[in-house]
Amino acid sequence: MGKRVERGAGGDGPPVSELLPARLNLTNVRAAAAGCRACDLYKRGTQTVFGEGPSKAEVMMVGEQPGDAEDIAGHPFVGPAGKLLDRALAEVGIDRRRVYVTNVVKHFKWEPRGKRRIHAKPNSAEIAACRPWLETEIALVKPRVLVCLGATAAQALLGRSFKVSRQRGRFVPSPLAPRVTATVHPSSILRAPDEERRHAEMKQFVADLARVARELSRKET
Ligand code: SF4
Repeated sequence: MGKRVERGAGGDGPPVSELLPARLNLTNVRAAAAGCRACDLYKRGTQTVFGEGPSKAEVMMVGEQPGDAEDIAGHPFVGPAGKLLDRALAEVGIDRRRVYVTNVVKHFKWEPRGKRRIHAKPNSAEIAACRPWLETEIALVKPRVLVCLGATAAQALLGRSFKVSRQRGRFVPSPLAPRVTATVHPSSILRAPDEERRHAEMKQFVADLARVARELSRKET
């Protein structure tokens, strides 16, 4: 029996730091994460949804957590928000197959509403409990450009004072990768109250990703 993780995260398994395999590579780490019970979210989600993409991807995109469709499929960014992300990437000429996509939290946190499972925001203890998986992904993939999608990812990786609404689209200094930026989560565009607003938000999202595309097209210095 492993010891419990820090108070607040719940969970009845060892902390992530004790689950990391001796031989660190994405295949081994993904397999270890599949059995993670370091916080209570494993009880609610169907399965761990680990990041996916090339092992040496130039760009890594980090969202908040898997959604309903991802939880069932077991793959990140395959639901409606993922499809919107695919469209935006195609628009700016970034091949999705070059991108490693992952989340700050690897299990779907949800609340029941009738027959539906509604997204619930992970708390800071759950984010902290899960964080070593993401840190390991970043350390192994070593992306040249890291993109936080939404406030949860941005605040987890860039600090709690980071405001996506004010600082989106800019590259900010960070030890995480040579170039680090943040924009909104694509699910926020889907939640826009009307078509006009959705169109405007999509345009801004595409503009943020266009900066990423320009960065990727530059030669490494
Ligand atoms: S959310 Fe993260 S820390 Fe919590 S059980 Fe899932 S993989 Fe483990």
